[in-house]
Amino acid sequence: MDKAKIKCSVSDCYYNKKMMCEAGDIEVKPMGDNTVNTSDGTKCSTFIKETSV
Ligand code: SF4
Repeated sequence: MDKAKIKCSVSDCYYNKKMMCEAGDIEVKPMGDNTVNTSDGTKCSTFIKETSV
């Protein structure tokens, strides 16, 4: 099965290449108090600042 293509506009992420995610797998978690009502309540836990690697 083909790998999922993940479009991402977090250009400061180490894994972001031309607005696509190049990480092998990503993990998305709820933010704050774990009560999520919209996409604003989610975050990518795989993010690494580009300059920190
Ligand atoms: S790891 Fe997360 S923040 Fe980084 S490019 Fe992939 S989806 Fe975007």
